[in-house]
Amino acid sequence: MQSFYNFTINGLKSYLTENGFKPYNADQLYKWVYEQKETDYHKMTNISKNLREFLEKNLTIEDLEIDSVYESSDGTVKYLFKLEDGSLIETVLMTYDYGKSVCVTSQVGCNMGCSFCASGLLKKSRDLQVHELVRQITTIEHHQKIKVTHSVVMGTGEPFDNYQNVIDFIKVINYKHGLQIGARHITVSTCGIVPKILEYAKEDIKSNLAISLHAPNNYIRNKIMKINMAYPIQEVIQACKDYFEVTGRRITFEYILLDGVNDKLEHADELSDLIRGINAYVNLIPYNPVLEFHYRKTDPAKASKFYLQLTKRGINATLRKEQGSDIDAACGQLRYKKEDI
Ligand code: SF4
Repeated sequence: MQSFYNFTINGLKSYLTENGFKPYNADQLYKWVYEQKETDYHKMTNISKNLREFLEKNLTIEDLEIDSVYESSDGTVKYLFKLEDGSLIETVLMTYDYGKSVCVTSQVGCNMGCSFCASGLLKKSRDLQVHELVRQITTIEHHQKIKVTHSVVMGTGEPFDNYQNVIDFIKVINYKHGLQIGARHITVSTCGIVPKILEYAKEDIKSNLAISLHAPNNYIRNKIMKINMAYPIQEVIQACKDYFEVTGRRITFEYILLDGVNDKLEHADELSDLIRGINAYVNLIPYNPVLEFHYRKTDPAKASKFYLQLTKRGINATLRKEQGSDIDAACGQLRYKKEDI
């Protein structure tokens, strides 16, 4: 049996047509499942009996299995899901003034090997399928009885290393009868896979791009992010300029502040020179220390100075509030502990 959640609207139309049904049935089904949250085909009263019986035999509408849930004192909720093959993945729900945002995982493990990241401690065993991406959100919506308004593909894995499934996931959650999450409320974060940045720019979807930059130069980036050996920082920056040229959309640069590594004022100067002229803003992120690594968190006063130095030099920046540190919110930490390696 396949999952209903695996289909984009066009994919579902083709599937139904191939099996002797009408394309318009796809929109009817989307409305039942995503808008009405109905999981019993027999209650879908405007669908023919014939089609209901076919769906019953061929497509499941099941939530992911929740292995455990951890709630932080600041309202962040972290889910550990168990997939059908037994793999564990993490998904985080964050609450902001402007809505509810889910940080989605795109792969089981990650091969990118960023030296500060707990997700990379467990190598990639496989890509997540479209339904496994979508069901991270639907399961949380059902479990919390909420409407998710934003999504970031920023959990474990490199989204552009699972490109087509991530693109189809965006189509499902953005569709007017799907989860109806506005394209401007969806962000994909890459560590800098240059050819895919350009491909993403040309997609017929208007979701956002974030780059995990984390360093102002090749010397530091080579040390902390292996991907920089394949795509050096200047190539990433050039790809961002090309992306803007095609889409006209602002880019976010994610920058984790690591004490003594990338958080000096001279690094802020270098960073502002590097990205000057790009329509972007820098999201400075306090590091969530991971036991297995030697990195430490930049102290708040130093982080503020770094932030002020950027803004003084005309760069739009935010200093992100720390979230969920009491529940091991650093991506991959829970799963790593649970796998007991
Ligand atoms: S930061 Fe992202 S790309 Fe790098 S190892 Fe972690 S999950 Fe993978």
